[in-house]
Amino acid sequence: MRKRKVVILGSTGSIGINTLKVLDRLPQRFEVEGLTANNNIELLSRQIKRFKPKFVACNKEKIVDRKGLGLPKRTRFFDVTEVSQLVESCEADIFVLAISGGAALAPFLAAAKKGARIAPANKEALVMAGTIIMETTKKYGATIIPIDSEQSAIFQCLEGRNRSGLKKILLTASGGPLNRMAKSKFPRLSVQQILKHPRWKMGKKITVDSATLINKGFEVIEAKMLFGLGTEQIEVVIHPEALIHSMTEFQDGSILAQLGVTDMRLPIQYALTYPDRLDSGLPVMDFGRVRQLTFETPDERRFPCLGLAFFCARQGGTLPCVLNAADEIAVNAFLQGTMDFTDIYTVVEKVVNKHRNRLNPQLKDILAADTWARQAARNLIK
Ligand code: NDP
Repeated sequence: MRKRKVVILGSTGSIGINTLKVLDRLPQRFEVEGLTANNNIELLSRQIKRFKPKFVACNKEKIVDRKGLGLPKRTRFFDVTEVSQLVESCEADIFVLAISGGAALAPFLAAAKKGARIAPANKEALVMAGTIIMETTKKYGATIIPIDSEQSAIFQCLEGRNRSGLKKILLTASGGPLNRMAKSKFPRLSVQQILKHPRWKMGKKITVDSATLINKGFEVIEAKMLFGLGTEQIEVVIHPEALIHSMTEFQDGSILAQLGVTDMRLPIQYALTYPDRLDSGLPVMDFGRVRQLTFETPDERRFPCLGLAFFCARQGGTLPCVLNAADEIAVNAFLQGTMDFTDIYTVVEKVVNKHRNRLNPQLKDILAADTWARQAARNLIK
């Protein structure tokens, strides 16, 4: 069997590192064709030495020369601003999209135009421009096999089913670090407290997004786009054990759930090996020890970002993009200590309310809305 060539966009992040762990176990199936990073040059350099990719990108300002990075002679080297050009230049079977934030949009579209398999962990690009991404994917014959665990679960529960029988999907949420905390304590929470997620070890941005539950709201928009659903067909359920990764409900009342250990290597491997299922080397669930699976309805008064995201999902147009852009700026300000945790909602809501929504946007409208929202959020934070 020919080895599949994999390019990992965002190889130095939490998803990127896990993807390389999965690939490391399957050398007979895959080879690493390309790696991209931003600022973590030390880790990228170690990854280059180990996997010898033919295409590499990183923030060139952070390196002295190619030699220091350990680049093999024939490796083509790009700046982090040229990730889309890297995608256009290489011949890969699978692009893993593990860049965080809106920076993933252009590489996503470039990968779609290659007609390859795209395995997105990144959700922000689909939130910003889901309709355009899905149209481009269809036009160029690309395939999307999601990595984001909830979308992977839905994908698996829908596989081989008659879609007309689907009633709705249930996206599960662990509830994040604040699920049991009184709202009155929220304003004084430190960055360290917010970054302590009870179930998942992830990058900083998504961990803060999990605490506000806007991450779940982004997943609502992501699922809407990936599976062509109406917003009313999507429900969020708090499931603190995080063992059910999401569910599908059918017209007859039957519900299918996908369960598994809380480890991103599981959905990553499935997106890479699909439709095959191979030994992952991960522990399996021990039902004797699980004891209970519990569920709650999310409390939108405590977590208003979720309701705001549902509002943007229903409105469509440029509003989801504005939601994402304002959140990116607000989360960054919180992480840098410029504002309180509860200010994230205040800033994002104000920017969303100020925006004049544009329906059926083209890419240029989305990029303009993104720029506008970032500036509007910065002005509020100042
Ligand atoms: P991390 O912050 O850990 O990693 C982000 C990666 O993107 C790093 O390789 C980083 O490079 C790179 N990067 C950052 N900014 C840029 C930029 N402007 N241009 C190019 N590359 C950039 O994030 P995660 O791995 O946690 O998450 C990645 C994506 O996957 C996010 O969209 C997240 O929502 C999604 N996701 C993550 C999950 C998880 O378990 N972590 C679960 C489900 C979804 P460097 O480090 O070198 O600076």
